[in-house]
Amino acid sequence: MSRKPMGNSWSSPIKCLDCQSEFPKTGFPHRCPECGGVYDFAEPLRYAPGASGSERRIWRYRETFPLPPGAKSVTLGEGNTPLVSYQVRGRSVYFKCEHLNPTGSFKDRGTAILASALEAQAIERAVEDSSGNAGASFAAYAARAGIHARIFIPSYASGPKRLQMEAYGAEIERIPGPRSAASEAVLEALSAGDTYASHAYLPHGIAGMATTAFEIFEDLGDSPGSVILPVGQGTLLLGLARGFQALRAAKKIQSVPQLIAVQAKVCAPLWMEMIRGESDLVSLEEGETLAEGIRIKSPLRMRALLGAIRASQGDVVAVDENEIMGGWNALAKLGLYVEHTSAVVWPALLQNLDRIREPVVIILTGSGFKSI
Ligand SMILES: [Zn+2]
Repeated sequence: MSRKPMGNSWSSPIKCLDCQSEFPKTGFPHRCPECGGVYDFAEPLRYAPGASGSERRIWRYRETFPLPPGAKSVTLGEGNTPLVSYQVRGRSVYFKCEHLNPTGSFKDRGTAILASALEAQAIERAVEDSSGNAGASFAAYAARAGIHARIFIPSYASGPKRLQMEAYGAEIERIPGPRSAASEAVLEALSAGDTYASHAYLPHGIAGMATTAFEIFEDLGDSPGSVILPVGQGTLLLGLARGFQALRAAKKIQSVPQLIAVQAKVCAPLWMEMIRGESDLVSLEEGETLAEGIRIKSPLRMRALLGAIRASQGDVVAVDENEIMGGWNALAKLGLYVEHTSAVVWPALLQNLDRIREPVVIILTGSGFKSI
């Protein structure tokens, strides 16, 4: 039995950035069919916890999400992750344990929203590209929603992540070459009727990521001074920025935290842009790195990312491969077993501890069980 889309009288908060046309209620285009523009939220996100009833975890913030009324929550129990307190050189540091989400990464918050939106529009088959975490997350939520998933991954993606995607029942296409080759391959392979459930092009997941900010605020009772996180496509960074802005608009916090984005030096487009300070966006070669999850040479929402970092009085930090390995070891010695991509935050913390605001929150994005 084929499903029918819902919410025909509902107005989506997602619009094309270029021509302002609303995200359509049938089909699920990854770019605006009118002009080819990129979709995003037309209005700032709102912080309104619990306003729609007795939902738990991220679903307490349902009013923040771009879902039609009555849409089913496609959930695996994501969110509500621990915020663990440490002292580092006498300063207050918290780790937000996003690696403890259902599929072992922060991606689940966003994928839950995207999968719910796909389910509400009766999408039955979807294609995605990923270096691992987004693919594993998408495969799991597609399985939960009964959607057939086909995922394009770079052939270097770690074995555990590929096995995880396959176990959930996704069809896997391994693409040789750099990460960007997988994105190009998926666009070439898209045929009429395929839905490209891209976590980069589609903004739905940003609202899910905003719940990370809401939980940090609710645990601390205030805004942190700064947040350090790995950044590839930057969905998490935009979600955090907009989540803290929503909290400020709701008069829950006075100021937003400094956002400190961390990249691997061999593939650091944001860092290059910040240090060069040029108005033309730079492109660079992507090098091999232990931090495979943030190996993105040209983030789709580059301008928005730089704008959010600058507006927060934040910064971009780039770390080398030795520092990533050292960070991985240091975090494990604190009892925190994360993947190498997540470990970029540790050298960034040590290098910047004396000049960023306290308390510092560090986002641990992916589980160590996914590392080889
Ligand atoms: Zn458009």
